[in-house]
Amino acid sequence: MLRKLPFVLLRLTGVPFLFREVLQKNKVSIILFHDIDPDIIETYLRTLIPRYNFISLQDYISAREAGTVDELPPRSMIITLDDGHKSNYELKPLLEKYKVPATIFLCSGIVDTNRHFWWKHETGGEYGREHLKSMPNQEKLEVLKQFGFEVTKEFGDRQALLKSEIEDMEDMVDFQSHTVFHPILPMCTDEEAEWEIAQSKKDLEEKYGFSINTLSYPNGDYSKRDIELARKAGYTCAITIEPGFNSADTDLFRLKRAPIRDGADVNELLVKASGVWWYLRKMVGQ
Ligand SMILES: [Zn+2]
Repeated sequence: MLRKLPFVLLRLTGVPFLFREVLQKNKVSIILFHDIDPDIIETYLRTLIPRYNFISLQDYISAREAGTVDELPPRSMIITLDDGHKSNYELKPLLEKYKVPATIFLCSGIVDTNRHFWWKHETGGEYGREHLKSMPNQEKLEVLKQFGFEVTKEFGDRQALLKSEIEDMEDMVDFQSHTVFHPILPMCTDEEAEWEIAQSKKDLEEKYGFSINTLSYPNGDYSKRDIELARKAGYTCAITIEPGFNSADTDLFRLKRAPIRDGADVNELLVKASGVWWYLRKMVGQ
């Protein structure tokens, strides 16, 4: 209840409505989900559809290239999902039913295998997820190895989408890159980062025939070097989890996006999708 209260109150103030009608009106908002339940996303779609106009990420990129961002519908919104969780396949009928495009950013070394996402692997209390994220990549992998995890280890169960599922969703979903194994890029050596960024694009293009032009930085973390590596690998743009809206002149390698907790209720969804939440957090210096 306490977790929900600020969102209920904020929504009641009407500020999210004002944000939509003023700040978001002529901007493109991008929202992010991960491993989301289809029933929950159906509620989200029904809530967002009357308030926003869904476009695809490629619509925005094309408009940037053509200089026609101001011709996009008012309150344009793009749905994205990171990682390529196997539950994403269940979203297909909903995206079709509501005719909403989406972009899913895939970890090319994990989809279509029984390899696991490293942060879902159980480790001892000493090595929480945030601690592991702050370690140099090789060091992190050494720790995970002590707990029975390796990036190429095949487990008994699957966490990510299959190739057949990805291909089956191609009509509604634009698939893009989320690196190979989801390292925290600034914690990688130059060689590791270059390989993760370039190889993922190559894998997805060769194995699936996609044209990959966008990189989603794992965990939203990147450095100047990673931007350069993405450019060098041939990406057109890259996407962060920095709050804000996108316009005709947003840095293409630092596109802004609002992450929404997979279990958020409708109040939290609307407050976060409108950008109010991040704005308030910035105001209180968090
Ligand atoms: Zn991710």
